[in-house]
Amino acid sequence: MDQKLIFTNIVGQAIDDLVESLGNPQVIVLTDVNTAQFVLPVLTADSKAVQGAHLIKVRSGEHYKTIEELSSIWNELQNVNATRQSVLINVGGGVISDMGGFAASTFKRGMRFINVPTTLLSAVDASVGGKTGINFNGFKNQIGTFSEPEAAIISTVYFNTLPAQELLSGYAEMIKHGLLEGKDMFDKLMKYSVQYPMFDSEALMPLLQQSVELKAKVVSEDLTEKGKRKVLNLGHTIAHAFESLGYNRKSPIPHGYAVAWGLVVEMILSNMIYGFSSEELHTFAAYVLKNYGAYDITCDDYPALLEAMRQDKKNTNPDEITFTLLKDFGQPEIDVVVKPEQITAALDIYRDLMHLA
Ligand code: NAD
Repeated sequence: MDQKLIFTNIVGQAIDDLVESLGNPQVIVLTDVNTAQFVLPVLTADSKAVQGAHLIKVRSGEHYKTIEELSSIWNELQNVNATRQSVLINVGGGVISDMGGFAASTFKRGMRFINVPTTLLSAVDASVGGKTGINFNGFKNQIGTFSEPEAAIISTVYFNTLPAQELLSGYAEMIKHGLLEGKDMFDKLMKYSVQYPMFDSEALMPLLQQSVELKAKVVSEDLTEKGKRKVLNLGHTIAHAFESLGYNRKSPIPHGYAVAWGLVVEMILSNMIYGFSSEELHTFAAYVLKNYGAYDITCDDYPALLEAMRQDKKNTNPDEITFTLLKDFGQPEIDVVVKPEQITAALDIYRDLMHLA
């Protein structure tokens, strides 16, 4: 992985140093209206490069991760005569790093960009690893590139203004990284309180750094997702099926919540198939229930859930449903084919553990 990772809570200085190291090029800042309100005033006060930058502001949220919004970014880049040497600084959540990264990687066949994530989800996941893109024709991340920023500047200073749900959503991806890394990291994550009023952004920093470094290590071995990177799909086969059910129920669920519930089901499968510790599974299910609640499903939902899993773009054979599972903490197994009857048995146990049955 070529991308530089900078962990600091003195973000303005880090941006200025980086811009200087890139030869003081033209700087353009991309952000969305919410982030502009919560983060930009502080960042502008702290960074000379941001003070002198041209600002592009788009509308906030997933709904605007579209070709139209992207086109408005390309337009602005053209209006300010941006070149390949210019630098686009993406300040915001995953929508901004995905869309800004895509805009930069395609403008004039590729200009430089830097990610400054301001949500926990973008810090731990979206801003690292080189996946960029937009949604298209109602499908998520259909158009995009693998393209790495010059750097991601990872901090925890902006998280205090995040809604509680956004914090928990990002934290679920950190828990996933903990399961992949090993028991020590997982236990530390279980002990830390990500909930207000106990939330402590300083104490989060070392956990976040360990989490991002795990992702960076995996990605560096497989940037374009041909093998090893699939370990990052832990929890996600079920999570995507729950999200698709939520979409059909016209009641979308936050991605990180779906990941938390998906991890419970996939740890049940790991227990059934590889003998993953039953005690750890029960403790984790109780943790998820306490912090994330339970996603309400009945056996009537099973056919739709299985169909969504069959449609998962990660499957190579359309008749098989594959998972990343855990033999133990830190010992993931990719491309595990699981039979529908094993999946429905795991969903039954999920409903028991989450007090839904
Ligand atoms: P987001 O970018 O929509 O941010 C969530 C909301 O928080 C937005 O309204 C935003 O304006 C606001 N916000 C941002 N920073 C804030 C702050 N400090 N205080 C208050 N509000 C703030 O969404 P997200 O949850 O950050 O990211 C989700 C997106 O990331 C999805 O589009 C997903 O596909 C993408 N993603 C990409 C990757 C990848 O590898 N490229 C990985 C995971 C997720």
